[in-house]
Amino acid sequence: MAPTAENEKQLIESLRTGLFIDGSWRDAGDGATFEVEDPATGDVLTTVANATPEDGMAALAAATDAQKSWGSSAPRERAELLRRAFEAVTARADDFALLMTLEMGKPLAEAHGEVTYGAEFLRWFSEEAARISGRYATAPDGKARLMVHKRPVGPSLFITPWNFPLAMATRKIAPAIAAGCTMVVKPATLTPLTTLLFASVLEEVGLPPGVLNVIPTSNAGAVTGPIIKDPRLRKLSFTGSTEVGRSLLKDSADQILRTSMELGGNAPFLVFEDADLDAAVEGAMLAKLRNMGEACTAANRFIVHESVAEEFGKRLAERMAGLPLKRGTEEDAKIGPLIDEKSRQKVQELVDDAVSRGAEVRTGGKPKEGEGYFYPPTVLSGVGPDARIMAEEVFGPVAPIVTFGDEGEAVALANDTEFGLVAYAYTRDVGRSLRLADTIESGMLGLNVGIVSNPAAPFGGVKQSGLGREGGFEGIEEFLETKYVGLADPFADVQKG
Ligand code: NAP
Repeated sequence: MAPTAENEKQLIESLRTGLFIDGSWRDAGDGATFEVEDPATGDVLTTVANATPEDGMAALAAATDAQKSWGSSAPRERAELLRRAFEAVTARADDFALLMTLEMGKPLAEAHGEVTYGAEFLRWFSEEAARISGRYATAPDGKARLMVHKRPVGPSLFITPWNFPLAMATRKIAPAIAAGCTMVVKPATLTPLTTLLFASVLEEVGLPPGVLNVIPTSNAGAVTGPIIKDPRLRKLSFTGSTEVGRSLLKDSADQILRTSMELGGNAPFLVFEDADLDAAVEGAMLAKLRNMGEACTAANRFIVHESVAEEFGKRLAERMAGLPLKRGTEEDAKIGPLIDEKSRQKVQELVDDAVSRGAEVRTGGKPKEGEGYFYPPTVLSGVGPDARIMAEEVFGPVAPIVTFGDEGEAVALANDTEFGLVAYAYTRDVGRSLRLADTIESGMLGLNVGIVSNPAAPFGGVKQSGLGREGGFEGIEEFLETKYVGLADPFADVQKG
């Protein structure tokens, strides 16, 4: 049943909207707040405390103070806390989903999908917490012993984006908790409410004060800059645009910070002549329309064999045309609004640029009139290689189609980008699939699937899509240092004697 206006009001009124520092909720140092808007209507949902640089330093101090005891807590204690958090988030799935729909715009069904995905990081890393291991070996010359173990990196700063408000937070917070790290989290200004709700859930399930500190702010650089320059900070994990990531990497150089960077993407979606076209269209719908195309994993360049391009374009346009564009709380909503007007204008600019260079609009192509930042699913065929949309991340529901003649050309087109997050390919040829696994320059490849995200798998990119991996066995390693202890030969005394 669709939530009522009363449900929405009750949820919003029940939220903690202060800063969460050292286990307590407080106003910003200067009492300032900022507004959070519903992108489907432009209405203000609520206001949130706007952290100052001093609040940021207080959060870092709390994380630093908590590190010693948290870093030496029992892995099982951290595992059980994460398990309780998984259960609590799952029990409150309706609240989390509704909140994400309200502040970010995605349809409720998709928001529920994100709750499942986001909560799964808590379960996965609860299982990983007790599996942190090292090794003990005899040196090759037999004269020493080598002990290698893992220690938590230490206080970490997380900066997260607005597009997956729960999952982008749990993908960092869960492995950090599992590894024994404390943290300061700066959520996106556009969507801080989900992170605040998640912080209150972690408080309820018994996370000790100072382990997690949340500082929403509309002055990102001014608040996080001094934290990044402070020697008490040991790690920065960022998810967001390549442009901001590049500048944060430069700032991190002064303290030689450990960094993880989950940055932009411009995923190619290859359809070969032998593909199952029904499956390819189905996969394209997921890879393109999940989150209204506002996903780093969104398929942005459809590279289709010339023999099937017309049929693929026709079927994709038919499937996309007429999908209901509605506020995500409505039961039949399939496509929610984009996050704001600036994003919608950028989408339109890229569409107009492609059309001015000869592309044909098969469906969509113009914003929906009325309130909210809606943009319809759009298919463009005959897109030229010089169109901006082939190089820039569109972050909207637009599918540009280009054609290729042979596998070599397809791979060259797919790799012709500074990004390398994910790629998708549809083919029934096993040999070709294995070649693509080698030749496509990306951190992830979906073969005959339109979604690759999975908490049990390493998520991340190559080239300018980032550094490091989140999820999988690799995810916890981002929060662990390897420490080697050299030991004297234990038989030395026996030999002497
Ligand atoms: P963004 O503009 O880079 O912002 C991301 C976060 O960085 C926000 O919290 C933002 O704060 C903060 N920020 C902005 N400027 C900053 C600065 N100078 N210093 C410190 N923090 C700063 O990206 P976005 O628009 O939120 O998200 C979309 C981008 O994220 C896309 O490029 C997408 O591909 C990428 N993304 C990547 C992944 C991945 O896993 N690879 C996943 C999701 C999204 P404010 O909100 O206050 O601006």
